[in-house]
Amino acid sequence: MLSGLLLLAACRSNAPAEQQPGYIVQVSLGGWNSPDYTADRIVSRIDSVSSLINVEKVIIGWSLDKEIYRQVGEYLHSKDIRMLLWLPVFAETEDVCDNSPAIDLWGEVPSNYDLAAGEDFRFNCPSDPHNAANVVAIYDRLFSDCGFDGVFLDRIRTQSFVGGISGVLSCGCPLCAEAYAREGVDLEIVKKEWDSQGDAFLSVTGYDPAKGFSFANPVAAAFFEAKGRLVSGSVSAVADSLRSRGLEVGMDLFAPFMAPFVGQDYSILAQHADFIKPMLYRKTYAPAGMGFEYELLRKAVPGATSYPEFTMDVAFLDSQLEAMEPYACAKYPGIEINYRAGVAETSPEYVTESLDAVMRHHFDGAVLSWNIMEAPDSHIACLGGNND
Ligand SMILES: [Zn+2]
Repeated sequence: MLSGLLLLAACRSNAPAEQQPGYIVQVSLGGWNSPDYTADRIVSRIDSVSSLINVEKVIIGWSLDKEIYRQVGEYLHSKDIRMLLWLPVFAETEDVCDNSPAIDLWGEVPSNYDLAAGEDFRFNCPSDPHNAANVVAIYDRLFSDCGFDGVFLDRIRTQSFVGGISGVLSCGCPLCAEAYAREGVDLEIVKKEWDSQGDAFLSVTGYDPAKGFSFANPVAAAFFEAKGRLVSGSVSAVADSLRSRGLEVGMDLFAPFMAPFVGQDYSILAQHADFIKPMLYRKTYAPAGMGFEYELLRKAVPGATSYPEFTMDVAFLDSQLEAMEPYACAKYPGIEINYRAGVAETSPEYVTESLDAVMRHHFDGAVLSWNIMEAPDSHIACLGGNND
């Protein structure tokens, strides 16, 4: 028996440090209107999911039905699970407050993507202080008495290549022009440079997972650096206001390689977040999917040179996980577990392969996206470690 124990001890010491992943799940209630599910149904679903995996937090939103949060919150707190409000920041708030829209360098509102209802939203100007104040006011006015432990900030960016080049070269309103000028960037020069260079404006000289793309054109490089400071600075102010209310703050981010195009500067954002959730979706052929967004970039500027071919394999996932390593906040990469034919063709093998990569980087766990209410059970059970 002693030799058996010694053998066991030897096996354990040779194995990598055991770390149990923590899971954050999302409950999508479907917009501001009446929720898609009853509180009872949500409680019963979380109860069954947490018998399979270690659920640490539930992100839920953003229906205006307060009672649902009070009931779900009571259950979650009895199980020591934290409840975070899923709150959109720079889009989708038109129903509850007036915002100034983001416009591109030519004064137009960037076009939208309308794959399905709920994905055809407009973005708001990131520099307008009223827009940022509105977000905090929404929390105070509509959600502060619902028992939330934190807020999960979504849409903390500009439009991506979903809106073509126009979405990425936004916002160009007078307020943003002033803010860019303070960062040493003249938007008139950016516009002229784009007009004269065309696609070549976005040509790169290389890609390094840790540093991202290197822009060949110094005006483009300066624009995207300033854009990151502007957009992420505004997001940080919203995050700080919410944290001063004792709330935990999580952030929904584009994968590191695409983040600069939408104004997400990880080095700024991570300082104002309790955790970040980069959307490392390899199977999603829709907005925020890594391959999808990259393909849109290539299509938006076909003449831009030196963009490498990326395959959405584990090696690429590893490169994005590595890029997240330097940041001090907790890290819960987003893995899509929902299934949609032709859009997100996930499988238990895909889900476990992604989670294994996350844990090899010794991160805290993962956010299981995008709606636990509709996720196949087999994509959750496989994470419990009970199937081979
Ligand atoms: Zn603006």
